[in-house]
Amino acid sequence: MASDLRLPTDRIVRPDKDRFLAEENPFEAMMSRFDRAAELLDLEPGLYKVLRHAEKQITVSVPVLMDNGEVEVFTGHRVLYNTSRGPGKGGIRFDMAVTLEEVTALAAWMAWKCAVVNIPFGGAKGGVVCDPLGMSVGELERLTRRYTAGIISVLGPDSDVPAPDVNTNERVMAWVMDTYSMHMRHTVTAVVTGKPVEMGGSLGRREATGRGCTVVTKLALQHFGMKPQGATVAVQGFGNVGSTAAMLLEREGCKVVAITDRAGGCYNKGGVDVQAAIQWTRQHGTLEGFTGGDALSNDELFALDVDGLVPAALENVITTRNADKIRARIICEGANGPTSAAADAILDEKGIFVIPDILANAGGVTVSYFEWVQDRHGYFWSEAEVNTRLEDIMTRSFHDVLKLSQQHKVNMRTAAYMLSISRVATVHRLRGIYA
Ligand code: GLU
Repeated sequence: MASDLRLPTDRIVRPDKDRFLAEENPFEAMMSRFDRAAELLDLEPGLYKVLRHAEKQITVSVPVLMDNGEVEVFTGHRVLYNTSRGPGKGGIRFDMAVTLEEVTALAAWMAWKCAVVNIPFGGAKGGVVCDPLGMSVGELERLTRRYTAGIISVLGPDSDVPAPDVNTNERVMAWVMDTYSMHMRHTVTAVVTGKPVEMGGSLGRREATGRGCTVVTKLALQHFGMKPQGATVAVQGFGNVGSTAAMLLEREGCKVVAITDRAGGCYNKGGVDVQAAIQWTRQHGTLEGFTGGDALSNDELFALDVDGLVPAALENVITTRNADKIRARIICEGANGPTSAAADAILDEKGIFVIPDILANAGGVTVSYFEWVQDRHGYFWSEAEVNTRLEDIMTRSFHDVLKLSQQHKVNMRTAAYMLSISRVATVHRLRGIYA
């Protein structure tokens, strides 16, 4: 498939961080789950302290010459949370709501995510506080290159490997790769993943997160004795992850009855025409004006009586504000951190089966791993090979987590944290503390 060199059309606008509820603090959300799993694992106090801290946090000023001739200074972060199992791995997001605390939480989530699917990476994340919607292509390129230069001391195929995240895409990764390569004086494809396929990207990477969500949703349906055929699904967020998940779930026979993005969306009892919706967003940027069903707000989507609900956009969309209204049987967390820790208890109480983010959306980083392997070998796989290996890893990981959840009588989220923390902890024990 040809690379998408357009700017992201699925740009996401988030609420002002000052309007967050206390329960929506991302680092606390991550830590409260970590603490519960650490307690159940009886993690030794020393290791507990080690794993509660990020290894490295970098903050850089990013001066950019704007098109109007003035210089603007942006703030960028890169956090390496834990690299005991391999190089730091994780996306870079461009967004006004980026904070060091949020980037740290997201970096920790990456560490747990890579461990859940057992790929040899640690966890990292980056972010630049900016409004990409209001910037030209030239400004975004200059911002990306200067940010890359600012964090270049940690980057490298063996140390830290970025990828796309909120409001960044293949094109942004091409600029990161080029900037790094110019500094190294030779082409280093394996320094980023999620690149255009023409320059060392992997086939299937763009669809990987949505594909992984589809695999685990099918397994969850199966777990409840249901078939994808006719199962009803609602998808919140219609960017790369949400639109791909909707398309593939539809292809599996599910009825995608509702889709929304930041502009709202629609409900169609007979099933939304997902391809038509994708075409619409390609042309118009959002679902606004798409007439494939009755108009539906995000709030209404969460209250629908469906078999599967896929939150696939941002953090904190399921909180104490709306958790009690949710009627879905299964939630597949395509986004990172869509559910607050306080909402977990409400969903548990209602008997809702949640496939947690660190498992559900791990398909993206899994194919990033495949991309990194292919770059390092200089030998590229077919799309079918990528998809088969992805399905194998997602299936094995789902069953690993399910088994642990049954053994310990805990929900899937706690089981996923237990699995990943125990894997990271084992490596720390083997490596010891360097003195
Ligand atoms: N940003 C994606 C995530 O949150 C992908 C990270 C990667 O591929 O490194 O999982």
